[in-house]
Amino acid sequence: MANESFEDAIAGLSKLLREKADLGSVAAAKIKQITAELEAAGSKGFDPVERMKAGFVHFRTEKYEKNPELYGALAKGQKPKFMVFACSDSRVCPSHILDFQPGEAFMIRNIANMVPPYDQKKYSGVGAAIEYAVLHLKVENIVVIGHSCCGGIKGLMSISDDKPASSDFIENWVKICSAAKV
Ligand SMILES: [Zn+2]
Repeated sequence: MANESFEDAIAGLSKLLREKADLGSVAAAKIKQITAELEAAGSKGFDPVERMKAGFVHFRTEKYEKNPELYGALAKGQKPKFMVFACSDSRVCPSHILDFQPGEAFMIRNIANMVPPYDQKKYSGVGAAIEYAVLHLKVENIVVIGHSCCGGIKGLMSISDDKPASSDFIENWVKICSAAKV
C-alpha cells in the first residue's frame, strides 16, 4: 500500500465511485481537504495558518455538518459526564485517546496533569475550573490521566533541593507532587 503509485490510488478511487456513486460528495470533500493540505505543505513549507484552516474545514464538513443534532444540542449548553485532568503534552490528547466527543469531557490540561491543593492565590485557574465543573456542571466522574515519557514528571524526579531553580515556573509547579517522589 505504501508503495502504491498516485495513478493506482486515483484508479482505485475512480473504481469505487463508479460502484458506489452515493459516496461522491464525501469523496469530493475529502479530496478538497487533501488538496488544501498538499498546497499548504508544498513550496512554502509548513504554513500554520493553512494547517488550521484545513483542520477547520475538515471539522465543519466531516463532523459539524454531519451531526446537526449533536451540535444543535451543544449550542444550547453542555452537560459533560467527565472532568479530566490531563498533561499538556501534545501526544496525549484525551479526546483522541479516549474518543471523547464534544460536550463529553470538561478538561484541565497542565504540565504533568497535576491537581494542585486548594489555594485561592497560587492555583486559582485550576481551582476555578474544578469549582465550575463540580458545582455548576455537576460532573459525575473526575479522572486524572497520567502518561509514559512525561517531561513534567521527569523534571520533578530530577529536581535537586540543594540546587537553585533553573526555571521560573516549571520546577515550582511540578513540586506540587513532591510527596509522590519517595
Ligand atoms: Zn506529560
